[in-house]
Amino acid sequence: MSLNDKELARFARSLGGDIFVVGLTWSDEGKGKVADEIACGAAATVRWHGGASAGHNVRLPNGQQFHLHNLPCGVLHPDPINLVGPLCVLDPELVRTEAALSQVAYGGQPNVVVDRGARIVLPAHKLLDAGREGASGAEAYGTTKTGMGPAHEDLVGRKGLIAADLAAGPKTVRLKLQERRYYQEKQALASFWGVSLPSLEETVAWCVQFQELFAGLIGDTRAIVNEVRRDGRTILWEGAHGAMIDVVNGTMPTSSLVSPWSAHHCYGPLGPDKTVVGTFRPYVTRTGPGPMPTEMAPEDAQRLHQDAGEIESTTGRLQRCGWLDLVAVSYTARLTGTNRLYLTKMDVTPFETLKVCCGYQIGQHLVSTTASTTLTADRLSLAKPMYRELEGWDGQAVAAATTWSELPPTTRRFIDYVETLLQLPVIAIGNGPNRGDYVLTGSELR
Ligand code: GDP
Repeated sequence: MSLNDKELARFARSLGGDIFVVGLTWSDEGKGKVADEIACGAAATVRWHGGASAGHNVRLPNGQQFHLHNLPCGVLHPDPINLVGPLCVLDPELVRTEAALSQVAYGGQPNVVVDRGARIVLPAHKLLDAGREGASGAEAYGTTKTGMGPAHEDLVGRKGLIAADLAAGPKTVRLKLQERRYYQEKQALASFWGVSLPSLEETVAWCVQFQELFAGLIGDTRAIVNEVRRDGRTILWEGAHGAMIDVVNGTMPTSSLVSPWSAHHCYGPLGPDKTVVGTFRPYVTRTGPGPMPTEMAPEDAQRLHQDAGEIESTTGRLQRCGWLDLVAVSYTARLTGTNRLYLTKMDVTPFETLKVCCGYQIGQHLVSTTASTTLTADRLSLAKPMYRELEGWDGQAVAAATTWSELPPTTRRFIDYVETLLQLPVIAIGNGPNRGDYVLTGSELR
């Protein structure tokens, strides 16, 4: 059952000024859908990190579907101003495609400001990514080959193009590519990995096609955030990537390149009353290699591929699937400052009995949901999950519910259990793929 935009806006505003949406597992938690719902009541939406490897799927109430990788989901809404921060790494072709979606979604022009300092992914970055992955065999990271690795290496290496360079035109672009023999270095690296890159002049010509687009988009996103904050209006911060694949706090090296944690944006200190909505499903998934302690048997995973569509949106790969891991969720919830939970995909969780991981054994140690442990890749690969079994529910009954009391008793018991273990309120559950398909639980820990 769907809530309309007015009800959604009321819900968003009830959450407060700065609202972060973060994923508490290894990605695909439904962040895009939740962010899109909250965008209904936001004055500004911000994407503050990441790029093409993070895909958000959004479906309007009529089921029309959109994929976003670079721009915030606010481009699908007529009201908010939509910001792309300086830590974002942008594929100009995707920016062009996604900016055109406003017209399709609501028949208006996109209201987007890209920070002058946002990074640009060049064709060379994609070729280097694919070359390194292809040559690495069993040691490959399992990347999406969208150039994210090489582009982020340039970000911390203080080199490469920023959005303002693209907007400035060919002279600036050529100079930047030649600075400290940047492009020559890329070509040397490419021959190491056995790939060939477009020439410097071909790259300049490729950049020129985006000059006008970027000249119309760039601006000072920090100034806009300050103004919206000063006016006390709602800002939706749209997280990309799950917090368990944070490059610093997650399962490095099988991780993303970014820090999806709410503390790591670059827009100044947050007030104590911010809302951080942590999203997760009654199970977990992961794409590519790396530890995931609760990985389930292939026949169970197959049910999630079929019934819950757990197929990675950016690459089309089947997801690795696992039972809900509340130790991992408690870890990421603590470090992201999560103070509200939103459980998604409750309508398509197909099991008669669900296992829920409520502790790990790591060597001689027991790790519970209240432990202050750091879950690095080496520790997770030793973790033996301890499970509690809970009864499943009828997904159709969940999909039909509009209120807490209409949810099946087993669903309510499941939510109660999650709240008890995490000591955080589950404010809503997702019960369908479209904008507005959710049930508010009325929880302040009931
Ligand atoms: P993200 O990677 O965390 O941003 O995940 P997305 O927001 O892209 O969601 C992944 C997929 O799950 C999309 O196809 C969504 O439409 C779908 N989805 C999200 N929440 C729900 C839900 O509550 N029920 C159903 N049936 N689908 C959902």
